[in-house]
Amino acid sequence: MKIVRVGFDVPLDTLFDYRCDDATDADVGKRVLAPFGRRNAIGVVLEVADQSNVAPARLKAVTRVLRAAPAFAAQDIALMRFAAEYYQHPLGAVVLSALPAALREVRRQPAKALTHYALTAHGAQISVDEMPKRALTKRRVLELFQASKELDSVAVGALVASEKQALRQLIAAGLVEQREGTLTAAAPTAEQPAPPIYGPELTADQTAAVAALTDDLDGFKPHLLLGVTGSGKTEVYLRVIDAVLARGRQALLLVPEISLTPQLHASVCARFPQVPVVSLHSGLNETERLTHWVAAQSGAARIVLGTRLAVFAPLPALGLIVVDEEHDASFKQSEGFRYSARDLAVVRARQRGVPIVLGSATPALETWHNAASGRYQLTRLPNRINNTVPRIVCVNTRNERLQDGLAPALIAAITRRIEAREQVLIFINRRGYAPVLMCHECAWLSNCHRCTAKLVLHLKDRRLHCHHCGHQAPVPLACPDCGNADLSPVGQGTQRIEAALAAQFPQARVLRIDRDSTRRRDAWRGMRDQIEAREVDILVGTQILAKGHDFPNLSLVGVLNADSLLYSTDFRAPERLYALLTQVAGRAGRANTPGDVLIQTDFPDHPLYAALRNQNFPSFVDDLLNERRAAGFPPFQYQALLRAEAAKLDAAMQWLTRAAAIAKSFNEGITIYEPVPAGMTRLAGRERAQLLVQASNRQRLQRFLAAWRARLSDKRASTARWSIDVDPLEL
Ligand code: ADP
Ligand code: ZN
Ligand code: ZN
Repeated sequence: MKIVRVGFDVPLDTLFDYRCDDATDADVGKRVLAPFGRRNAIGVVLEVADQSNVAPARLKAVTRVLRAAPAFAAQDIALMRFAAEYYQHPLGAVVLSALPAALREVRRQPAKALTHYALTAHGAQISVDEMPKRALTKRRVLELFQASKELDSVAVGALVASEKQALRQLIAAGLVEQREGTLTAAAPTAEQPAPPIYGPELTADQTAAVAALTDDLDGFKPHLLLGVTGSGKTEVYLRVIDAVLARGRQALLLVPEISLTPQLHASVCARFPQVPVVSLHSGLNETERLTHWVAAQSGAARIVLGTRLAVFAPLPALGLIVVDEEHDASFKQSEGFRYSARDLAVVRARQRGVPIVLGSATPALETWHNAASGRYQLTRLPNRINNTVPRIVCVNTRNERLQDGLAPALIAAITRRIEAREQVLIFINRRGYAPVLMCHECAWLSNCHRCTAKLVLHLKDRRLHCHHCGHQAPVPLACPDCGNADLSPVGQGTQRIEAALAAQFPQARVLRIDRDSTRRRDAWRGMRDQIEAREVDILVGTQILAKGHDFPNLSLVGVLNADSLLYSTDFRAPERLYALLTQVAGRAGRANTPGDVLIQTDFPDHPLYAALRNQNFPSFVDDLLNERRAAGFPPFQYQALLRAEAAKLDAAMQWLTRAAAIAKSFNEGITIYEPVPAGMTRLAGRERAQLLVQASNRQRLQRFLAAWRARLSDKRASTARWSIDVDPLEL
């Protein structure tokens, strides 16, 4: 008797056994339709076995194995199995969450037939020269098909309108035909003739970096590419990808947030016009997500550009993984299945025996430590392409009178740059008008009643917004506590700075860029065009502006309110602030104008600012590492956080106290801390607490967590919702 063990999208660790007489080992990773409870559900075969512990009479049969449709390969399942075990999450839930929604839904099965396009025999014989000279587009599309024989619907979807029309004509003429099903994976081929490269001539640093990164493409090799901002890391990635494509392999390029890095997508597509490139990120609609995923899975897409979830994209011919801005916190999923895509990317590269490049100007301490200890090979790009270095200066605001949050020295600098017709970026880490509304009579503050957070005043709709739970309220006409009618906004957000700059520089064109102003899907693109066309003099914005953008005319960056990030209880705060400020500072002087960076601060002598002024990441980070070692923090210790939430804080704390007692009853070499309320205790009306455990040995912590979780899951009548966060980033 053949049994398949199936995972479903349920929060249970168990797999479910079904009879499936024709099952073979090749079915691992295939989707099945099977009776589940009172309905039919889609699951994924995770194991094939000869016997089951379920009594034969109670063993149901699968309704159908969906063999014809796209599926995971066994090697994809191996990665997800590792992830499920390491991050203490049910395997079925992990696997199903990695499938596009369209492949998870019963009503859609069998999935709408996918199509691709192929050159017919007739199309292969005909010479382009037999076509009318004027039919330029038709000739080009036919050439495209003669070169690649088959194109999937994604590649065809990327054609422009006139090319699509030409394609329809070619189909009508019988030169190309539409076929059912997806492209089958192209097997890795031997060395193909390298297509011409249209990129710039590499600098000596880049040449050396490319040589180091392509030195051995045939085995697992982890690299850290440490390159200052503007050092041309992207160009290096493109060359390495090129070398991998030439070997007939696929490249996976992971980026923090695709909508924020459209330039990268554009440069990849521009560099490899003949190569199918797909993106995988949360901004896609269901159909896009499905076709892109299938293109990756079939091998048709040769480059996959994606955010963290793309780390699970099935890639039959994977030959390289690149993680750009590897330090970015968005690679860690912060709820539900809390995995680190960066760390899993390294695991995946090892499993598949391929090189991985982690790139950053300010690598995570964990990554830096791995490079320092020789586990990762370190390659540096120490200079900017244009050989300028932005000057970073602190503006002491302690005894200054600020005008709407702006110091006189910053205002003077802005004036000079605008007169020189250069662009200015003012960075502030808060959106909205003012972070809180206050009554000066009784000290009432606009608190969110559902969260441990303040309601932020927004000017556009004149309402108070909670940035954590989305709660909104009208601005009260008078203080709810004492009736005082004179409520005042305290502090600055992007909207207030925008207004202040507009008042201060009436002749300048000010553009605000934050989540509020870029909510519309392509708003950001329009803004970038405006900036590029020099229709903007001053940009005001949040982190959105910090990442990866190249603004050639921007020569001054002003940083407001950085101090608020300086003193935090989280031991990772300095590391994060340094990375953020490096990114922001990196926007200045990217073309030929040398850049200036002015940081307004009450603490100009703080070591972090001193390190930033010297732009010496290695020395800053070595100091931090010494502190971490002395304090017994990661990367010298491995941590996990047990999080619990309940309607009342007491309930969450009591549950954690019991969990701590259980842990202490069988722990060996694990440090178990006391439960504490979470930093943000209330969130969306729930109260949260947490319990930290740590160990100096990763395997030991893993064994402990598995045993602990099993014991905790046993306690059915739990009053708290809980989860385990392995390698937590936020404490
Ligand atoms: P990073 O990602 O390291 O901050 P980028 O990859 O954005 O840097 O490169 C900075 C700028 O330098 C980009 O405008 C890029 O097009 C340009 N660039 C990169 N390499 C070269 C080169 N070899 N010659 C000329 N320009 C280059
Ligand atoms: Zn009051
Ligand atoms: Zn709230």
